[in-house]
Amino acid sequence: MAARRKRHDPWHGGVTPPSPSTIDLHTHTARSDGLLEPADLVAAAATAGVRLLAITDHDTLAGVREVVASGSIPPGLELLPGIELNAVVRDRPELMESEVHVLGLGVDLDDDELEATLELQRDRRRSRFTTMVARLAEFGLPIDDALAALPATGEDDALGRPRVARAMIAKGYVKSVEDAFERYLSHGRPGYVPRDGLGPIEAIRAIRAAGGLASLAHFSEAPVHLGVVRELQDAGLGGLEVYYRSFDDVVVRSMEDVAAELGLVATGGSDYHGDLEPYAATHARLWVPPTVEAPLRAALAGSATIR
Ligand SMILES: [Zn+2]
Ligand SMILES: [Zn+2]
Repeated sequence: MAARRKRHDPWHGGVTPPSPSTIDLHTHTARSDGLLEPADLVAAAATAGVRLLAITDHDTLAGVREVVASGSIPPGLELLPGIELNAVVRDRPELMESEVHVLGLGVDLDDDELEATLELQRDRRRSRFTTMVARLAEFGLPIDDALAALPATGEDDALGRPRVARAMIAKGYVKSVEDAFERYLSHGRPGYVPRDGLGPIEAIRAIRAAGGLASLAHFSEAPVHLGVVRELQDAGLGGLEVYYRSFDDVVVRSMEDVAAELGLVATGGSDYHGDLEPYAATHARLWVPPTVEAPLRAALAGSATIR
């Protein structure tokens, strides 16, 4: 179907990569809401030509720890320990679902304080998940049996809406993860449960305290919400995700301008979760220019970060 693409819809764009990206600073594994085992993701990324990879699971470093402990990092690939924190924005209802996502790149895997913060986030995530499932059941859409049949995500799992969506697909309630979000799980829909947890400033501080670079993820509203970005920068935000799988040229250029104007390190990644396609297919549409690397390394200098 030749649906006309809205020029500024940042979620359905994409650029044509001039060459295969060697950097991907935003990925998920089965330790949070992705589907691939951490070792499989790392192997797939290496095969696709990635040389600098960050695993940024929601609220857990378990995937990174596993890969590091197993010694299964392919030769020629550097793994940057990362995290993604979904932060609740309580006083800015104009922001999408009133939350922003903060990536922590190069965080210390052994930082106890960060681990305690992540533990708390995981607890809140579990209780939100349970409430969501109960709400859907009240709405006549029980998913308990389908959830039980989904592959386990490990002890440190960060339960999220994608998992609810997958159970809904299995039950035949929806056609896809996107369909589930649109009809039931996004803000204002019957299964939506507001998140409880860290605010963006607390998230940024937690990342900084663990030696990481805090980068604002897929915030395509940055050019029109410069004030929000500045506020976060004052709290220690050091990066902006300028390159993102689904950003089109127009969005990328305006994000580049924001990063340059504010002096934020430009970061970029696929946000690969594994639902729709193999890593290689996503990577083929990802463009993170090699120029990202030097400022990133400079920003991370001093922390024992890249393995
Ligand atoms: Zn995110
Ligand atoms: Zn993500």
